[in-house]
Amino acid sequence: MQFAFFRLRLRFEAIDAVRFPSKLTANVLRGALGYALRQVGCRCGAEIHAPGCAYARIFEPRTAPGAGPSGFAEQPRPFVLRTRHLEGQIVAPREPFSIDVHLFDLREPGLGYFVDAFSLIAREGFGRLRGQARLTSVEQLDADGLVRGQASDDRLEPISMALEANGDPSGRARTRAAGAKARPTHRRGAGAGARNELP
Ligand SMILES: [Zn+2]
Repeated sequence: MQFAFFRLRLRFEAIDAVRFPSKLTANVLRGALGYALRQVGCRCGAEIHAPGCAYARIFEPRTAPGAGPSGFAEQPRPFVLRTRHLEGQIVAPREPFSIDVHLFDLREPGLGYFVDAFSLIAREGFGRLRGQARLTSVEQLDADGLVRGQASDDRLEPISMALEANGDPSGRARTRAAGAKARPTHRRGAGAGARNELP
């Protein structure tokens, strides 16, 4: 079985000192992302989201229209934030940091909303101390963590990987991408060569 997703690396530059709380970074960032996605992706203004609400689709898939009894009872959010490398870190002003996102929602404009949401989080500040940062670039990575190009390049297709029988799509992308071989047009961006390790 194959599944497809975008693997994104959002690069930031700290403006203030940015503190990531130990053991809570994933939760804090998920909370901030929910808030920010609602700002950029929801115009419903009520508990019940309209059909097509990108916020509900991405962040509250259980309450999204169409997710009724016939849908999955425990529909997971279609993204994973990879933040372990930031736990407990303090990023000094002007220092870079990055957050990886695996996005399994391939419908438009999910990717654009993620970029806008993280841009908003950076402007408003990370964590309780609201350390501000600037979103400097959003890269698309391949299954091996190499840069394929910028997320704004809409010619880039999602990467495709074989799902192991016991696999979970949010797990470590250690397996070689089956899709890499099947995709001869697979491009590597200018940043190729900068090998990035998974946490
Ligand atoms: Zn909504």
